[in-house]
Amino acid sequence: MKTADIRQRWLEFFAERGHTVVPSASLVSDDPSLLFTVAGMVPFVPYLTGLVPAPYPRATSVQKCIRTNDIEEVGKTPRHGTFFQMNGNFSFGDYFKEGAISYAWELLTSPESAGGYGFDEKDLWVTVYKDDDEAIRLWKSVAGLPDERIQRLGMDTNYWSTGQPGPAGPCSEIFFDRGPAYGRDGGPATDDDRYVEIWNLVFMQYLRGEGSGKNDFEILGDLPRKNIDTGMGLERVAFLKQGVQNMYEIDQVRPVLDMASELSGRRYGADHTDDVRMRVIADHVRSSLMLLSDGVTPSNEGRGYILRRLMRRTVRSMRLLGVDTATFPELFAASRDAMKAAYPEVEHDYSRISQSAFGEEETFLRTLAGGTTILDLAVEKSKAHSSAKLPGDTAFLLHDTYGFPIDLTLEIAEEAGLSVDRPAFDALMANQRALAKADAKAKKTAMADLSVYSAFRAFGETTFTGYTDLTTESKILG
Ligand code: ATP
Ligand code: MG
Ligand code: MG
Ligand code: MG
Repeated sequence: MKTADIRQRWLEFFAERGHTVVPSASLVSDDPSLLFTVAGMVPFVPYLTGLVPAPYPRATSVQKCIRTNDIEEVGKTPRHGTFFQMNGNFSFGDYFKEGAISYAWELLTSPESAGGYGFDEKDLWVTVYKDDDEAIRLWKSVAGLPDERIQRLGMDTNYWSTGQPGPAGPCSEIFFDRGPAYGRDGGPATDDDRYVEIWNLVFMQYLRGEGSGKNDFEILGDLPRKNIDTGMGLERVAFLKQGVQNMYEIDQVRPVLDMASELSGRRYGADHTDDVRMRVIADHVRSSLMLLSDGVTPSNEGRGYILRRLMRRTVRSMRLLGVDTATFPELFAASRDAMKAAYPEVEHDYSRISQSAFGEEETFLRTLAGGTTILDLAVEKSKAHSSAKLPGDTAFLLHDTYGFPIDLTLEIAEEAGLSVDRPAFDALMANQRALAKADAKAKKTAMADLSVYSAFRAFGETTFTGYTDLTTESKILG
C-alpha cells in the first residue's frame, strides 16, 4: 500500500463520516512560541481550547510535522523522522470517546478491499490511562480487545495537557506488534522496536487548574464541550503496510536512501553504521526539502539554524560514507521526485529550493575542506604520540577559525578511535565568551577597563594568541 493510498484512505474514511477535510498547514506554525508544527492538532488549537468557535464540528487532515527533539533517534529507531506526516481526526464538542475509538478500530481493521488498512486485530495492542475505566470498557465492547492487550499506564505517557491551566484529559494509544523476532513479549509498556506506536487518541474532557508540573495539577471539573484530537503516524503505518523494516524504507523516502547508497558505492544492509548514516541522509534531505519548500532558509538562529543543522548533518553523513564532493543535486532531486505527488509545490518551487540547498552545501564543503586537513593532521599526531585524546585547543581552533562544529570534530575524532579533550575545549569556549563580553563592555565604556587586557594577556599566554596567529596552528600540529 503506497503512502499516497494510506493518506487517501484516511481522508475518504473521515470525510464519509462527516469530517471537513482541512489541508495541511505550513511547517512554520503561526504560534511564535513554537518553532515548527509538531502535531496535527497545532492548527486547531484555537478551536480545541474554545478560544475561537470551530467552523465545523469535525475535521480531518494530514499535517506536515517537524520534531527536532527526535533528531537523535533518526536512523536508529525504525520510527522517528524529523519530518513526518500526522493524520488526524478532530471533534470539537461533537463525538467523544466512543466515536474516536470506534473510528480508529474500524479504519485499522477493515479489510483493504473495504477501504480500511486491513491490520490483523490480533496484532494490535492499546494503552489507556490507568483510571480511564470508560476507555477500557469501550476497547472491550467496541473492539472486543481482551484484557491482556489493554495496558494501563500512568500520567507520564497517557495523559495530555498543555502544561498550563486549560483543557486536559487521558489518552489512549494503539500499537502494532511486529512479533517476537523484534523483541520480548509483554506489550508496548516496554519501549522497544517490537511494539510500534501508530496512533494516539486524546480525550480532552477536563479543565485543569494550576499545578507544579506536567503530572501534578488539580482537575477543576469537566469541560463544557469535550473534544477529540487524534494523531496517526502516516510513515509508521506505511512502513508496516509496505512490509519494510522502518520508515526510511517507505516509497516516499527510500529513493533518497538508494541514491546515498549509489553515490557512495556502499550497499544498504551490509553494515549497521553505514545503514544508520544512509537513513539519516534520507530523513534529513526530505526534512530540508520540505522546510525550504515552506519558506525556511538556512541561517544561524531559530528555524533557519535547524535547517542548516539538517543539511550539514547530511553532508557530514555523506562524508562519513566516503563522499566529500557535492551530492545535494542528486539527493534533493530524488527526494523531490518521491514527494511531488503529495506536495506538487516541491516541484514548482524547485529552482528556489535547490538554489538555497546547493549553496548551503557548497559553503559547508569549503568549511570542511579548510578544517579537515588540520583535523586529520592532529588526529595523526595524537595517534603517533599514542594519546587517545585530541587536544582541546585543536577542537577550539577548528571551531573558532574554520567554523568547524564541535559535534563534527567529536565524530571525526571518534571515527579515528580518539576522544576530544572536552573540558579543555569548553574552558576555551568559556574564555572566549568572557572575552567577547568584556570586549563589548569595554567598547561601551568610555574609559578603558584594564582588567579586560589582563584577561586577554592571561588567555593569550596560556593557549591561544588570536585568529591570525599561525604559530597557534603550528603549536598544535607540531
Ligand atoms: P513515540 O513514543 O514513538 O516517540 P510519540 O508518543 O512521541 O511517539 P505522539 O506525540 O503521540 O507520538 O504523536 C502521534 C503519532 O504521530 C504517533 O503515534 C506516531 O504514529 C506519530 N509520530 C510521532 N512522532 C513521530 C516521528 N518523529 N516520526 C514519525 N512519526 C511520528
Ligand atoms: Mg516521541
Ligand atoms: Mg509515545
Ligand atoms: Mg504518543
